[in-house]
Amino acid sequence: MSDRNAPPPPDTIAAIATPAGRGGVGIVRVSGAASRVDAIARAIVARPLSPRMATQAMFRDASGEPLDSGLVLFFPAPHSYTGETVLELQGHGSPAALRLILARCVGLGARLAGPGEFTQRAFLNGKLDLAQAESVADLIDAATGTAARAAARSLSGEFSRAVHAIVERLTELRMYTEATLDFPDEDIEFLRAGDVASRLASLRAAVAALVVRARAGARLREGLAVVLIGRPNVGKSSLMNRLAREEAAIVTAIPGTTRDTIEREVEIGGMAVSVIDTAGLHDTDDEVERLGIARTLVAIERADIALVIVDARAAGATLDPADAALLERIPARLPRVVIHNKADLAAIAPHVEEREGDSVHERHVWLSALTGSGVDLLEQEVAALAGVTSANEDAFLARARHLVALDAAEVHLESASRHLAIDAPAIELFAEDLRAAQQALASITGEFTADDLLGEIFSRFCIGK
Ligand code: GDP
Repeated sequence: MSDRNAPPPPDTIAAIATPAGRGGVGIVRVSGAASRVDAIARAIVARPLSPRMATQAMFRDASGEPLDSGLVLFFPAPHSYTGETVLELQGHGSPAALRLILARCVGLGARLAGPGEFTQRAFLNGKLDLAQAESVADLIDAATGTAARAAARSLSGEFSRAVHAIVERLTELRMYTEATLDFPDEDIEFLRAGDVASRLASLRAAVAALVVRARAGARLREGLAVVLIGRPNVGKSSLMNRLAREEAAIVTAIPGTTRDTIEREVEIGGMAVSVIDTAGLHDTDDEVERLGIARTLVAIERADIALVIVDARAAGATLDPADAALLERIPARLPRVVIHNKADLAAIAPHVEEREGDSVHERHVWLSALTGSGVDLLEQEVAALAGVTSANEDAFLARARHLVALDAAEVHLESASRHLAIDAPAIELFAEDLRAAQQALASITGEFTADDLLGEIFSRFCIGK
């Protein structure tokens, strides 16, 4: 278990905090004990520095030769990102110059920082809780504006505060319960007097509401894999281009032939959606096409949603047999939308219909990939299937780890409510479930966290953060 009050590691770490490559500005960041960081600052900058004030200065090597010039920021402990004394040398974004400055810091006694080490120190020094620390990496990695906002919301502590508010109410209920355990004959009285059942019910509702926001956030973070399936010429490529319209800059086509699968990143409802254009699933004797179909099956295997495209002119009330056969090959577990493309040629206005398939119900959307009309309807369907239409607005950028903890809390609270059965209350078991639920919730913000989990979390950060 980690003790957040333990003294921070005494060594001083340094890293280039800006991304690899050339840029306008490049930053070397140093964090550690005041005396060491002070010495590094004085050796490189040779100018007096005021706390938290930008100072223009030349950065010099051991023989006094200039390495670069720029701004220096000095943050005496504990008023810094890490809680230690921090020095930031903001030079020009030259990888070569930055490496020289970094080497100079190392020459002066710093060591190269590992991934996420600055943020880990911020956590260990109580500057951020664990959920906030994780959101730093998630903000950096966010693929869409909506995801970035959700990460910023978690970073601001909104998620942690929501968790904490529930933990506090749980603590109250636990205190009340444990007090009652000393008077076993009064179990039933305890239940009535403390209004325990309704307090528990409102706690469960609070956790459930948090789960909704966290789920939406996890979706934003992880994105969605959508597989696009349809017979040749039905308009798969055209639709793909449509979906990618304003995102031309982030469109990446994985090279391949038309018989290959092509994957592109587009944005739907604030989610990063990777759309996999496939070769289809038709029966064939052609060896190369068979290969393409095998790839399609792999794409289906890892997809969250299937979009099946048919020609709006071919399908009336029932699908063309070839398309129906194609739909049948999609596993029942996979939510799907049937797209009737080329609605313009069929002279059908864009709209949505719900139809009962064999064992699943299907949403059908009429649209035109060529003109773009109806594509917004499709985007709404996909967002709704992902379960994030409105919750995106106030989502917390949660991780799988958080969802697991919230689920565990829900399970324990549900179990607790069963122990409240009015004819045979089991107060000890009830108390034990409350304790377990509290512990699960507290793991989100890192109050009880195993060291190996911390290592795992921070090792996935970039260096310099
Ligand atoms: P794919 O083989 O499924 O990728 O189909 P393409 O996207 O290459 O489209 C095949 C042909 O249909 C192209 O000539 C497209 O311009 C045309 N097409 C695609 N979508 C539409 C549509 O909604 N309306 C009309 N009129 N033509 C379309």
